[in-house]
Amino acid sequence: MDRIAEELKKLKENHQLRTIPNVEGKSDGKIVVDGIEYINFASNDYLGISTKCELKEEFLCNNQSFLSSASARLLTGSSIEYLELEKTIANLFGKEAALIFNTGYQANLGVISALIGKGDVVFSDKLNHASIIDGMKLSSGDFYRYKHLDYENLEKLLTEKRSKYKRAIIVSESIFSMDGDKADIDRLIAIKNKYDCILMIDEAHAFCAYGASTIAGVCYEKDVDIITATFGKAVGSFGAFCVSSELIISYLINKARSFIFSTSIPPLNIAWSNWLLTEKLEYIKKQKNKLEHLVKAAHAALKLQGFETVSCSHIIPILIGDNEKTVKISEILRANGYYIPAIRPPTVPNGTSRLRISLTADCKLDDFEKVLTMVN
Ligand code: PMP
Repeated sequence: MDRIAEELKKLKENHQLRTIPNVEGKSDGKIVVDGIEYINFASNDYLGISTKCELKEEFLCNNQSFLSSASARLLTGSSIEYLELEKTIANLFGKEAALIFNTGYQANLGVISALIGKGDVVFSDKLNHASIIDGMKLSSGDFYRYKHLDYENLEKLLTEKRSKYKRAIIVSESIFSMDGDKADIDRLIAIKNKYDCILMIDEAHAFCAYGASTIAGVCYEKDVDIITATFGKAVGSFGAFCVSSELIISYLINKARSFIFSTSIPPLNIAWSNWLLTEKLEYIKKQKNKLEHLVKAAHAALKLQGFETVSCSHIIPILIGDNEKTVKISEILRANGYYIPAIRPPTVPNGTSRLRISLTADCKLDDFEKVLTMVN
């Protein structure tokens, strides 16, 4: 017990203590915390769907799905809603099959720990999400982390290590969650073919939000073996999925423990995701288009104000470095009506604390420019 209190004290001293904010309300582009309304630059609801009451009302008035699945899919927790959504997702991604997981965290955990056993190996981008890291730790194989987006470093590791293992997976996010930069998918495909690896891409931040020709993300029609993504961000829903070949999906149904041993998502929620991705597809595309225009203008504003950024997307980090300073700037922005929490280690590497601005279709360029002026 003593050590627990000690560790919390240390986190506080390092300005790293996390507390759950008292969120009292959300509406288009706004958030109410502790009774005060702010412009919300911290949402992953990139298309602004989750707060659209008219969509919710239209959906609920025609849907009678249950509010509980009451068990895991392999027992009695499956239903037609799941099969329909899996069909929608597989078609969207142009893949043979899909499998719904309860969260993106559980999808990455389940897929990696199922596919990687003793004698197998994962090669993971150093800035991959915690769920990928935890999936590697849970597996009984080995793992190596290559320098962020450094494919020469990845090839060096593969040259040295690949032949010692049976199965090998290369894992990367497509749009990175804390930097908003993009993996080179074509390069990763060439590398996975050269070294006989499986390529797995997490499209959590790209699905429905980023990608030129489709809402499916940046891997559409590319030779990527396994794609995971979540419904909890741009889709404005909850849950997650993996798309791949029939073979891999059958294997995951039998081996992915986070899928097998957990009560599945309420069918009502599954039906909501499917309704949005079918009946409201045009609406999603319209919101995505709106977001794309804002992102373009925001990047031009960044340039104009002299900010250098690695981001190419709706996720725009303003790097501060020091924890205390980052928290202070976040507080100043908050006092001026802008909600942009400080992102600190362990979410990001030590010394790279930042303000993570997350643009949604409901954000306004004018507000973004004001934030830049305040931070500059
Ligand atoms: N992958 C990435 C890249 C993420 O950023 C996140 C969530 N922040 C997840 C997976 C987990 O998704 P979920 O919130 O649905 O568990």
